[in-house]
Amino acid sequence: MTRVFNFSAGPAMLPTEVMEEAQAEFLDWHGTGMSIMEVSHRGKEFSVVAEEAEHDLRDLMGIPDNYKVLFLHGGASMQFSAIPLNLTQPGDTVDYFNTGVWSKKALTEAGRFANVNVVAEHTTAIPDPSTWQLSDNAKYVHYTPNETIGGLQFHFIPEVGDKPLIADMSSCILSEPLDVSRFGMIYAGAQKNIGPSGLGIVIVREDLIGHARPETPVLLDWKTQADNDSMYNTPPTYSWYMAGLVFKWLKRKGGLEAIGEVNRRKAKKLYDFIDSSDFYHNPVRPQDRSIMNVPFTLAKPELDQAFLKESDAAGLKYLKGHRLVGGMRASIYNAMPEEGVDALIAFMKDFERKYG
Ligand SMILES: *Cc1c(COP(=O)(O)O)cnc(C)c1O
Repeated sequence: MTRVFNFSAGPAMLPTEVMEEAQAEFLDWHGTGMSIMEVSHRGKEFSVVAEEAEHDLRDLMGIPDNYKVLFLHGGASMQFSAIPLNLTQPGDTVDYFNTGVWSKKALTEAGRFANVNVVAEHTTAIPDPSTWQLSDNAKYVHYTPNETIGGLQFHFIPEVGDKPLIADMSSCILSEPLDVSRFGMIYAGAQKNIGPSGLGIVIVREDLIGHARPETPVLLDWKTQADNDSMYNTPPTYSWYMAGLVFKWLKRKGGLEAIGEVNRRKAKKLYDFIDSSDFYHNPVRPQDRSIMNVPFTLAKPELDQAFLKESDAAGLKYLKGHRLVGGMRASIYNAMPEEGVDALIAFMKDFERKYG
């Protein structure tokens, strides 16, 4: 069996070591004679898995004690609805940055519940703070630190005064160190940098819990979830377990400082190569480029199909860009080894030599 380099944006590659570990204990978890996916979420086996995963995540990210960590269904998108339901009453105003497809989805959903003020809008550069239109009475400020489709990333935390700052970190969580105390709430779908799909992680400051609208569906109320340790109903246990293995893998790798260094090096290599070539192009302003998702186009779009076919045959999978933007995209999350990026660059060089 050969493992290929999979550049999918999500669900994405998982660390091979983690997959091997899960495989080894698939039928018999720690001598119980059962798979961890076959046992009760309230039983003693899964309780250990659940607690360790939370403990390791807190450790990795340095999550302060006054934050709850929730392991929920519904991925990131369910929080698009949960956030306004938990933090606003009808008629309230909320601030959203619009920097791409995911920002837009989040603010469109919020618009069903509250008045959305767009703070700033741009998809290939982070707008300068001097142009931001923050509202005085917003209940919170929402942004998408890493736009997975456009490849645009905030490399700083927006300064928004005393308003709770909310971040959709689906495609950048755990990719580098982060000061969690600057945020009111952080959320992420698991399938990019954490584990299999079916799981959403919510990290929320305690004072923001307990204010949901009365009509909020019970599963979307952070208080219900926090009071029940994310087990009001049956959580996605296998995804939670896999996330726990990924957290342990990250700790073995040296934590977020160490992985952040690797991630920056991987991204720099790829961007440096793209910038050195007249054949490949990335549209994002250099200081705002994503270190996780690298979109690029070919000078001759009629070669897109050949590029995809030949890269696929070379074991470089899922390089097709999102249908909304076209071109190519290489997602290089934590689990993508540096050799994967080297192999991609070597392929791109060859391809350019052949057709450029
Ligand atoms: C993938 C992604 C989402 C959607 O995640 P789901 O778990 O499918 O809801 C939302 N936001 C960002 C930034 C993403 O990358």
